[in-house]
Amino acid sequence: MKMLYGLLFLIGMGCTNTKVEQKTEEEPARPKYAIVIHGGAGTITRANLSSEKEKEYIDALNTALDIGEKILKEGGAAIDAVQMVINSMEDSPLFNAGKGAVFTHDGTNEMDASIMDGATQNAGAVGGVTIIKNPINAARAVMEKSDHVFMVREGAEEFAKLNGVEIVDPSYFFTESRFESLQRIINDEKTELSGNDADEKKHGTVGCVALDINGNIVAGTSTGGMTNKRYGRIGDSPIIGAGTFADNATCGVSSTGHGEYFIRYTVARDIAAMMEYGNKSLNEASEYIINKKLVEKGGTGGIIALDRKGNIAMPFNTEGMYRGWAKDGKREVLIYK
Ligand code: ASP
Repeated sequence: MKMLYGLLFLIGMGCTNTKVEQKTEEEPARPKYAIVIHGGAGTITRANLSSEKEKEYIDALNTALDIGEKILKEGGAAIDAVQMVINSMEDSPLFNAGKGAVFTHDGTNEMDASIMDGATQNAGAVGGVTIIKNPINAARAVMEKSDHVFMVREGAEEFAKLNGVEIVDPSYFFTESRFESLQRIINDEKTELSGNDADEKKHGTVGCVALDINGNIVAGTSTGGMTNKRYGRIGDSPIIGAGTFADNATCGVSSTGHGEYFIRYTVARDIAAMMEYGNKSLNEASEYIINKKLVEKGGTGGIIALDRKGNIAMPFNTEGMYRGWAKDGKREVLIYK
């Protein structure tokens, strides 16, 4: 009898072991690196984007991916890839971030940015800054060089200066096309998404999520916010859990769209939470939040995300979203639905 139990135990162990091994084999191998970017979502259709402008956007998105891919391919850290990619988009007047940021009602440019490290869940953010050339760099400084997560306006600028972040005169952010956009709606009580303008020169917020060779996920977002905003309005982009979120155990997310909705429905964190507590895949979670929940609530926009296995999702509920991804030598850059 004893021998029979022993035999059954051994068979049982064998079965358990086989099961564990099978599960390991089923898991797709993590790519060496993966990166995904966005340049804003809105009413972006073929009809209101000239072929020259379309090419400019495609080129700018490819340039940003080149920068991130090079860092990640060489074994660099996701945090550096995200920062450098966002810097290249902040420096391009095509996007509503850094140079090219939209105008507030008062004719100023007030920028928001945030970054989160999925390994440590440290995060840094700045809101309403007017003299920081690359707001994402200030967000990273807040994360790495302070005990805080979120700093705003003059205080954030003072902290950035003390930490060697590049400062510029506010006139650096002036672009004719953004100023014209403001003039069109300055007398209305409304704000406008930068991508929601029929004028082909209008563009959006930028974001990047990267997975590096060590399995670390970092997400970042940078924006000028919404045209004609006033009273110190701050959107979702610098709000951890709304505009940006990262956790190595689940995913990294960067949002773009009507910020008030992304804040109320904690969009970026909700996607990660559906994975963490509901066992949903990245695709299931992000499709549900963007194309079901947000649509029902009336919120427009989209997100980019990647999970710890390097799966990528880029859902949006607007006509278009400037977006692209690269993974182990493969790449795609897209604008329309
Ligand atoms: N989400 C940004 C904001 O509300 C705008 C955008 O993504 O275009 O400030």
